[in-house]
Amino acid sequence: MVDHGPRTGDKVALTFDADMTDGMLASLRAGRVKSYANLRILDLLERERVPATFFLTGKWVQRYPDVTRRIAGNPRFELANHTYGHAAFTADCYDLPRLAVDELAGDVAKTFTVMEPYGGRQTRYFRFPGLCHDPAALDALAPLGVTVVDGDVVSGDPFATAWKPLVRAVLDKVRPGSVVIMHVTEANAAMTDEALPHILAGLRERDLVPAPLSEVLAAG
Ligand SMILES: [Zn+2]
Repeated sequence: MVDHGPRTGDKVALTFDADMTDGMLASLRAGRVKSYANLRILDLLERERVPATFFLTGKWVQRYPDVTRRIAGNPRFELANHTYGHAAFTADCYDLPRLAVDELAGDVAKTFTVMEPYGGRQTRYFRFPGLCHDPAALDALAPLGVTVVDGDVVSGDPFATAWKPLVRAVLDKVRPGSVVIMHVTEANAAMTDEALPHILAGLRERDLVPAPLSEVLAAG
């Protein structure tokens, strides 16, 4: 289990979670929501050649196969696992519906099965929904050989209504080795693409360089 890489050097990891629940799929189907895939984030990262790591849920991959292909096709992007349907892996996790302990490993394994055909830079990194975990959840996942990655810099982008607080939250805390948590879910994180150029500029000012998560965790 890791929160960040070594505090030496100049690398930081920008990570983007791609949540998808049945409730979110229902909102898309009903037309209440336009998109949970923020293509402006991808446009910016690609244009600026910025490495990033995407924690994908299986249901997001199935809803957005073309976007997943685009992520997998970028040699600067890594793919990681954020469960199949963003259910809670512990009690009391942001009102998310909870999976039973004996369902946890299967849920994560299924997500790898959904993701792996897309190729690209697949990893064994895993992030719990809401970062909620306990010893039972960690035990359940041990056979899968995943590395659990939380992060040490929480942008607070879900349901944000302004971009400046996100920029401040990231730049106040970011240091060498940091793992920054953001979301690529557009309707549920509508300010992230507006904050991102300012975050990238702030990293440059601090001589911090975005790198794929595997490189940040291995640096030193
Ligand atoms: Zn999430």
